[in-house]
Amino acid sequence: MGLLEGHRAIVTGGGSGMGAATARRMAEEGAQVAVVDIDGEAARDVAAEFGGHFHQVDVSVWAEVRDAFAAAAEAMGGLSILHNNAGVSLSTGLEDIEPELWQRIIDVNLTGVFYGLKAAIPVMLAGGDGRIVNTASISGVRASDGEAPYAAAKAGVIALTATTALEHGPVIRCNAVSPGTIHTPMTHQFLTLIPGMYEHQVKKIPLGRVGEPDDVADVVVLLCSDLTRYINGQNIVVDGGMLLHGAGSDGSLFWVRELLAEQEARRAGDEG
Ligand code: NAD
Repeated sequence: MGLLEGHRAIVTGGGSGMGAATARRMAEEGAQVAVVDIDGEAARDVAAEFGGHFHQVDVSVWAEVRDAFAAAAEAMGGLSILHNNAGVSLSTGLEDIEPELWQRIIDVNLTGVFYGLKAAIPVMLAGGDGRIVNTASISGVRASDGEAPYAAAKAGVIALTATTALEHGPVIRCNAVSPGTIHTPMTHQFLTLIPGMYEHQVKKIPLGRVGEPDDVADVVVLLCSDLTRYINGQNIVVDGGMLLHGAGSDGSLFWVRELLAEQEARRAGDEG
């Protein structure tokens, strides 16, 4: 029996990357899944893989979210899982961000999550069961240059997650995931076109590799399952340990070891 047997799920941003991986994993674990994405063809293609539903929706438009969630719940016979995952990123210095771009990033990444919550919560309360996972980011936890509105939105998602958990227990559990560097269409150019960037990222990750969409999808499935029935209002960082860096002595052990190895090699050379 799957971890999500009998559940009815909506995954926003389910047409690509981590959302697509999560929609597939949820279906594998026995849930009915509705894939929601601004890219209707991508949503349709992912849903077709497991016989799911799909809806073309811009999560920053309330009427679209409200109507699509109502239609999905009607088609599936209810709604017990929501993965609020749609998002867009940017890399621009704060002073160069036009107000329209600021607004768009906030609208999709933060207001879109609010709209998802607003549409899903009454249905979940009526059905007596709700598990929600919002996608934040390590950028919402630790400052990251070039990402001012994105980081602000993601920090807002973490706060919204905690508020939802406070307001809607015991029927609904609400948690967030904060991915680190994950190789998806969103990060593909950043990781592959900037010379040395992939290796630079790997160096910052104690587990020694950039994340894959399934690394996050598995955590989302777990957070929606009964195995995490007492986890509520938390932000689970899924970054291979990247955020652990930053102490004053960060990296010094490896640096000293390298120096000692060099000294040892020199001594061995002198003696030889
Ligand atoms: P992705 O670009 O592969 O997927 C994002 C999906 O969201 C796409 O299918 C896109 O069409 C959809 N989308 C964008 N705007 C939308 C809108 N207005 N309405 C509905 N759908 C919309 O990216 P991904 O890396 O899988 O990102 C998924 C989530 O993870 C995002 O919230 C992103 O901010 C977050 N995240 C990503 C990383 C990473 O390293 N990739 C790290 C931290 C957080």
